[in-house]
Amino acid sequence: ETGADELATLARSFNGMADSLQQRIRELADLSLVQQRFVSDVSHELRTPLTTIRLADDVIYDQRHSFAPATTRTAELLHTQVERFELLLDDLLEISRYDAGSVQLELEPTNLATLAQDCIDGMEALAAERGTDIRLVAPGGHNQVEMDPRRIRRIVRNLIGNAIEHGEGGPIVVTVDSNADAVALTVRDYGLGMSEADAEHVFDRFWRADPSRRRTIGGTGLGLAISTEDASLHGGEIDVWSRPAAGSNFRLTLPRTPGGAVMSYPLDRVP
Ligand code: ADP
Repeated sequence: ETGADELATLARSFNGMADSLQQRIRELADLSLVQQRFVSDVSHELRTPLTTIRLADDVIYDQRHSFAPATTRTAELLHTQVERFELLLDDLLEISRYDAGSVQLELEPTNLATLAQDCIDGMEALAAERGTDIRLVAPGGHNQVEMDPRRIRRIVRNLIGNAIEHGEGGPIVVTVDSNADAVALTVRDYGLGMSEADAEHVFDRFWRADPSRRRTIGGTGLGLAISTEDASLHGGEIDVWSRPAAGSNFRLTLPRTPGGAVMSYPLDRVP
């Protein structure tokens, strides 16, 4: 039975292939564990010297007006960069906590519309600086859901902050709506927007669109990556619709019961 022999040989080599594939996957998983450990260790190592630099910077910054003008500018530059470094390090530490699986949600029943209004109130001054007006549209409904309000507030602030940053001074509309399965919050801006190709990368770690169009240095490129981690810890998700010059539409969806179904209409339209 040559056929049976060939089949047996084929099966054996298949087995061998599956084994080496499995081995390779294990190696890759180990590698990413090493990588995760590395990011976490480096972030923790940098914490202590940065705290010292921060204290020194505070002293220099407080006295900046007693220096010659050029030195004042240097002190201000130093201060901005130290702040930026701290933000980056905080974000890196947060990312490494997700990778280690050590983030615990503190759930409490929270009304998403009320939370959104709080965020808007806190960001109105920043929006006004850019000539932007933020409006909340929350047509009643049952908008209360179990969530970690601290984390969800951070997501909403991040989405609104991005809308202000890239919104070109146009209005920002925050909508909260709900159905039987989920509660959703959408942040709509009418600014720069981005290409479909860029929109695919917007949740990637460290990804930022063409830096030449950015006016401020702020931001780490980790904001949306962190927001996505938080959303998925809730069993929810964030999706995006965006077009160049038409603006962007980011939607956060949270299931009524963590791990439950989320609303699944495609975000391929501008509400
Ligand atoms: P950061 O804001 O720190 O750069 P994010 O993860 O929040 O990091 O955003 C990543 C990138 O996605 C931004 O740098 C920007 O290029 C793009 N982006 C995010 N929100 C918007 C938006 N509302 N409109 C246009 N581009 C956006």
